[in-house]
Amino acid sequence: MSFIESPERQALRRAVAELAGRYGREYVRRQVRKGERLDELWREAGKLGLIGVNLPERYGGGGGGMYDLSLVLEEFGAAGCPLLMMVVSPAICGTIIARYGTDAQRQRWLPDIAHGDAIMAFAITEPDAGSNSHRLTTTARRDGGDWIVSGRKVFISGVDQATAVLVVGRTEDARTGRLKPALFAVPIDAAGFEYRPVEMDLAMPDKQFLLFLDDVRLPGDALIGDEDAALMQLFAGLNPERIMAAASSTGIGRYALDRAVTYANGRSVWGTPIGAHQGLAHPLAQVKIELELAKLMMQKAATLYDDGDDVAAGESANMAKYAAAEASARAVDQAVQVHGGNGLASEYGLGALLAVSRAARIAPVSREMILNFVAQNTLGLPRSY
Ligand SMILES: Cc1cc2nc3c(=O)[nH]c(=O)nc-3n(C[C@H](O)[C@H](O)[C@H](O)COP(=O)(O)OP(=O)(O)OC[C@H]3O[C@@H](n4cnc5c(N)ncnc54)[C@H](O)[C@@H]3O)c2cc1C
Repeated sequence: MSFIESPERQALRRAVAELAGRYGREYVRRQVRKGERLDELWREAGKLGLIGVNLPERYGGGGGGMYDLSLVLEEFGAAGCPLLMMVVSPAICGTIIARYGTDAQRQRWLPDIAHGDAIMAFAITEPDAGSNSHRLTTTARRDGGDWIVSGRKVFISGVDQATAVLVVGRTEDARTGRLKPALFAVPIDAAGFEYRPVEMDLAMPDKQFLLFLDDVRLPGDALIGDEDAALMQLFAGLNPERIMAAASSTGIGRYALDRAVTYANGRSVWGTPIGAHQGLAHPLAQVKIELELAKLMMQKAATLYDDGDDVAAGESANMAKYAAAEASARAVDQAVQVHGGNGLASEYGLGALLAVSRAARIAPVSREMILNFVAQNTLGLPRSY
């Protein structure tokens, strides 16, 4: 691993910054106010090959890795327009299908995901299971060559923009006990599949949904990968999820810090710019350090992942996600503080980012579950649950 990014990666950063800069935070605010999504930006990013940089070239992707994809999302975030579904569609779903799908499944899904023409949402969270995925009750049973899937999911992002949802269930013969998951690509127009928005206090263009699967009949090839090895497949998707969550948080944190520094340099109330007061300067310097550290851990996680070391990548990806979520939430909070009353004025758009940055402490995996992971797996401490 080099700490110096290759000229290609630097060029990729510039290409994303250029595209995202043409849209900017104002575009996101406008779309949120209208209740609309970032479809134009998503489409343009897809055409430029930015959505699928991590996916195999053979299936329409850029042939890069998770490092490249996380870099793209970080730059979108730093420009104020993070594309949440990049965490889900190319990173989780694309990775799982690329690694474990049959050739036919790859042909069917990957080119469209890579070009941004199709979005695949990802559904694991259930109302009763929560963080305890061993309690998932979404169940699939065989009926001839078909699968019949039933269950409930909650907080699933972007179902309204998706053509399909990768649903984590369990097969009927593995109904109880430790999770033995099975992954199904469920088209959103399948009979028996319904979704309803969850009202959220998040000023985001991407919405969350409740899913209802009532005896949804799926063809045999809706099962992605192997029925008996799906736990490994699921983990293959969750490391990218955490790396991308870290990228999104790092980007949002950079955006907030940039806004805060600009304001602190421009605003004077005692004859000097407010940024000269250490009460404001030091917290901003602290945020800068925390964001850089989080980014470094994210890059380590992505490098390990791209190198094929899933176990080491898992530890780093969890740590990166934790550190980036904390740094980003503090960056936004401090940016609000630096702006004084303007920090909560809609014109400056920072107040709305408070809840968005805060959400990264909960999703896709909560701060506490990461601390549990590190306590148990890295430190060897006993479980309390
Ligand atoms: C904006 C947003 C987008 C999301 N998008 C998706 C999506 O696309 N797909 C999807 O599947 N899910 C999605 N989720 C769901 C998200 O992954 C869950 O909300 C998250 O994993 C926490 O689960 P929970 O809400 O059920 O909380 P719970 O599991 O009920 O936890 C509640 C609190 O208890 C703590 N807790 C639980 N167990 C322990 C323990 N053993 N030790 C210490 N503390 C514990 C948790 O950390 C948390 O603070 C999204 C959520 C949000 C907010």
